[in-house]
Amino acid sequence: MLNVVIFGPPGSGKGTQSEKIAEKYRLIHLSTGDLLREEMKKDTSLGRQVKNYIEKGELVPDEVIIEQLYLKLSEYKDAPGFIFDGFPRTIVQAEKLDKMLEKNNIHINIVLNIEVDEEELVRRMMGRAQDSNRSDDKEDVINNRIDIYKEQTFPLINYYKNQGKIVNIDGMASVDKVFENICYALYAYNSQK
Ligand code: ADP
Repeated sequence: MLNVVIFGPPGSGKGTQSEKIAEKYRLIHLSTGDLLREEMKKDTSLGRQVKNYIEKGELVPDEVIIEQLYLKLSEYKDAPGFIFDGFPRTIVQAEKLDKMLEKNNIHINIVLNIEVDEEELVRRMMGRAQDSNRSDDKEDVINNRIDIYKEQTFPLINYYKNQGKIVNIDGMASVDKVFENICYALYAYNSQK
């Protein structure tokens, strides 16, 4: 079983890379952002509950997101492995994820830390704003998402560093090159096991 966390600021390309990783390694791609956007689109009570946070670029409360993740993990009980995209985003979420996985006797194997300069993040998100149709791809909201990343999510790097699981990936390169580097990191992980 291979469980991967893909970690990085908004706009770092986590979603794009996750899809490629999921396809190649046959993992279940769990994107909390996609999940919440789907709920908003369907106008469910969960969708309505999270809309305000997302549109301001704030994090959805931990308990809400943890419950959704718990449900997904139960849904895919026999999965060959997961790629966690956009989760965990806080220390509380990371601790909870470790506990949930532990109950099933599994753990996170590797955390891919995708590194991209701030200027480039803003450029990418502004660039995709037209096509993405995402209500949070607007300049003020983008800046807020980056600030919140720095305050609440960035500290997770230390959490996973302490567990010896972080691998840094240069996210400034082309999509294919970044993917190549990720594949190499996963290969290196598998051969040192
Ligand atoms: P990005 O990484 O580009 O910001 P995501 O699709 O991962 O995009 O997340 C979009 C929004 O969904 C976040 O700004 C946040 O409001 C909410 N969200 C997604 N995942 C989480 C999470 N794990 N905890 C709290 N909020 C989340």
